[in-house]
Amino acid sequence: MTIHALHTWIGVANEPLIISGPCGAETETQVLKTAEELSRIKEVKIFRAGIWKPRTRPNAFEGVGEVGLKWLSKVQSRFKLKTAVEVANANHTELALKHGVDVLWIGARTTGNPFSVQEIADVLKGVDIPVFVKNPIHPDVQLWLGAIERVANSGVTKLAAIHRGFHYPTKNKYRNKPLWEIAIELKTMLPSLPVICDPSHICGNRQLIPSVAQTALDLGMNGLMIESHINPESALSDAQQQLTPEALKLLLSGLIYRQSSSPNPECHNKLQHFRNRIDEVDEELMHVLKERIQIIEQIGQYKKEHGITIFQLERWQEILRTRSQWSEKLGLSREHIEKLCQLLHEESIRIQTEVMNKKHS
Ligand code: PEP
Ligand code: MN
Repeated sequence: MTIHALHTWIGVANEPLIISGPCGAETETQVLKTAEELSRIKEVKIFRAGIWKPRTRPNAFEGVGEVGLKWLSKVQSRFKLKTAVEVANANHTELALKHGVDVLWIGARTTGNPFSVQEIADVLKGVDIPVFVKNPIHPDVQLWLGAIERVANSGVTKLAAIHRGFHYPTKNKYRNKPLWEIAIELKTMLPSLPVICDPSHICGNRQLIPSVAQTALDLGMNGLMIESHINPESALSDAQQQLTPEALKLLLSGLIYRQSSSPNPECHNKLQHFRNRIDEVDEELMHVLKERIQIIEQIGQYKKEHGITIFQLERWQEILRTRSQWSEKLGLSREHIEKLCQLLHEESIRIQTEVMNKKHS
């Protein structure tokens, strides 16, 4: 898959790409005023606006449609900003291309639908326009990867992923839980793919945006897409999470920008020292795990010889309870230790099942 680095086509080297604009284009005045104010913020390079809005229920504001694309042309010529819109089908894509939109993005609801992504990709054959692919709503990295592959297979090389958080079944403080590990997994699979974070759709409210934006930069993400509106309270969609351009400016100036490495050799040596220590600890951990597995094999054998079942609910509950207590005493994250116990327990069950199934032992 050929993926061209962001700076080769957007002209920002070594700094995060900042995209901003309203959730939806509502009126010409709203679009042009927002764009005018954003054009005065030096970091903002791309103006976003939804023209077709995917809404959960019908009869909500579903976007202004094609007329909004004419407003975006004015944004390009008046304010020298590049423009980006969401496309969800072939018709949207054709219209966006016809009106000269600079960047297309595929929304979270569309990424999860291979038919729609393919339909968009087919229109893009031979058109090397930049395309950003948002993660699907469900935490499924394969679906995200698959959508990127479909677009790439059409010959698009100016690709980026947008991390906008995931639907999560249990209540949490985010509208869409970040699950950073999934964005990291995608980056590991496609190392040259730029990943841009969308803190607006992760947070769902204005208050959390700065900390999520900072975490994205701390993780080395390549840019931020943040929704803005001249009058957020009156926005026809996502009113809770949009910022005024002024608030965006303040937010951007408060962010700490980090480098992926330091030119200072002393810093390099110090990091190497920490990494060597982590290597030692991990090696020790492997030995401890090996010991644990040997005991599991013995207990499996013993249970087999004495006709005892592998899974013992009370013992499992005891493991979870005691390990949580120990982790709390040591100041470790309870959630992390519980996940770890879950993995250890799964492996224990697998090994004991194998022992039980072995014929002549
Ligand atoms: C949007 O960017 O306004 C949008 C609809 O986002 P998502 O596809 O991430 O829900
Ligand atoms: Mn939105």
